[in-house]
Amino acid sequence: MRARDYYKTLNIPKGASDAEIKRAYRRLARQYHPDVTGDDVRSTERFKEITEAYEVLSDPKRRRSYDLFGAPSPPGAPDERSPFSDVADIFADVMRRASRRTGPEPGIDVEHALAVTLAEAATGCERTVDVDLTRACDQCAGKGYPPDKPPETCPDCGGSGTKGGGFPLKRSCGRCDGLGSIRRYTCRACAGEGQRKVPERLKVTVPAGVDTGTRLRLKGKGEAGREGGAAGDLYVVIQVKGDERFERDGADVHTTLKVGLRQALLGGKIEVPLPDGLAVMTLPSGTQGGQVFRIKGKGMPRLQGDKPGDVLVTVQLRVPKQLSDDARRLIERLAETVPDL
Ligand SMILES: [Zn+2]
Ligand SMILES: [Zn+2]
Repeated sequence: MRARDYYKTLNIPKGASDAEIKRAYRRLARQYHPDVTGDDVRSTERFKEITEAYEVLSDPKRRRSYDLFGAPSPPGAPDERSPFSDVADIFADVMRRASRRTGPEPGIDVEHALAVTLAEAATGCERTVDVDLTRACDQCAGKGYPPDKPPETCPDCGGSGTKGGGFPLKRSCGRCDGLGSIRRYTCRACAGEGQRKVPERLKVTVPAGVDTGTRLRLKGKGEAGREGGAAGDLYVVIQVKGDERFERDGADVHTTLKVGLRQALLGGKIEVPLPDGLAVMTLPSGTQGGQVFRIKGKGMPRLQGDKPGDVLVTVQLRVPKQLSDDARRLIERLAETVPDL
């Protein structure tokens, strides 16, 4: 089994949506379709690769298998397959679009995962992320072919992209598929993509109150657009790391506090962990095991800026497991005056 990275082939992130996959394929297919590139062997090879990648990634079952095992399951029966996997349909569409000369096309949005601690989520933080931004290739100005070797005018249609008499007899030129030109050379720097990956370190301001799944948008930091289209956006997807002391419920945070018998009986001040520090709480005398105290406003902030959540402290009684003979006698005596002990 070939160990080919289908995501790389389509130039998309691992978590790309069906729509992103389809769009990436559509774009690349339009570039590398043999009818467009003529007899350029490298382009034909590339075209086969992207089609193979698309066939696997557009089929949910095969994609899952590929994600898990690095190899796709064999193609399913036609009725099991996703409606996306109909390559022929896309093609018709690709060619229709090609013949229309689509013009500016906005860049694809991309995602980047960022893990933060609960404390960072509570206070907000500044972080940097290293990403590979897709930017127009500087060697060919995003054209995909060497500046000194532009596509040749299609000999069959003379560059008009159409053949035949006047309307309605006019039809798309089969040689160049309506493009009017045939690309014979590809830019080496970007392998004809017109785009290259450029590493960049970006500053991300994580606002207080983020939760797992919160998406922070960095405008224009997605893939570059084509033909002058605007760049897509980068979404930083937050993952809040687990903190064993806390359980988060939206803006509220639950925690368990171990309290010794003496403190439960007599009451007193006790330290309670908060997501971003400590609080001192006063326990009343006669605190019961399982009793819940609410510390208002000390939970997680809310992104919308409303009042922060609360910390709910559940008391767990700490009972000594072993007693000395002396202690046992004292407690027996105590029980004579404290009936509930
Ligand atoms: Zn280039
Ligand atoms: Zn032509």
